[in-house]
Amino acid sequence: PGTLHVVATPIGNLGDLGARALEILGSVDAICAEDTRHTRQLLAHFGIEKTLVALHQHNEDAQAAQLVSRLREGQSLALVSDAGTPLVSDPGFRLVRAVREAGLRVSPVPGACAAIAALSVAGIPSDRFAFEGFLPAKAAARRERLAGLVGEPRTLIFYEASHRIEETLADLVAVFGERRAVLARELTKLFETVLDGDLASLQAQVAADPNQRKGEFVLVVEGAPEDADATLAEGRRVYATLCAHMK
Ligand code: SAM
Repeated sequence: PGTLHVVATPIGNLGDLGARALEILGSVDAICAEDTRHTRQLLAHFGIEKTLVALHQHNEDAQAAQLVSRLREGQSLALVSDAGTPLVSDPGFRLVRAVREAGLRVSPVPGACAAIAALSVAGIPSDRFAFEGFLPAKAAARRERLAGLVGEPRTLIFYEASHRIEETLADLVAVFGERRAVLARELTKLFETVLDGDLASLQAQVAADPNQRKGEFVLVVEGAPEDADATLAEGRRVYATLCAHMK
């Protein structure tokens, strides 16, 4: 049987597509892509012409069964998304699971990922982190999600789009208060900027400069401070003691 190669593509700078990614994209029988037009352009840049299969949120389950049959017949396939690593806030999870459940081989060609690229330049503790992807679009659900993360000691990584960056920063300030954070914009592209400061200063910098609201964003937020944990732990201890005395 064939292999499904999960291939990362650039998040902006085409020079980030590595030699092995090119070799595999050039040699597979077909490439599954989130947006075939977008991927055709990327491949054309590198002189690669391939059969493309559209694989997105709405057809992934249906396509997965057919793709598994193709692998069983001995065809080799690649999976790419529009940018970065497939499955990371992108389609592919259900296909990969279906291929694994069929007992077939899935092999990665690692490369760009906006979350990891942002973390690598943030200067915020990177030994433990939690990738939160996109926050919910609706304000109430977004604040609820953030409230659930207030005590999280690991560094938090969020993705955000330009039309919601101001709202998200406002909610982060409201729910998290003073916290160190980094806003990484347009990484590897012409207008790459990495702003740092506390959340309120990021909010002010973005409010002051319309250019800072354009493009694609990763937000890296420092985890809850240790002493907050200690206070919480002390609170829990006192509560438990009181409960014990009330019996
Ligand atoms: N699979 C991709 C990855 O590995 O990073 C992520 C895909 S997700 C649909 C797109 C989001 O990733 C954007 O809204 C933005 O938050 C982030 N992103 C992608 N490229 C970026 C870049 N060059 N600079 C900053 N953020 C980026």
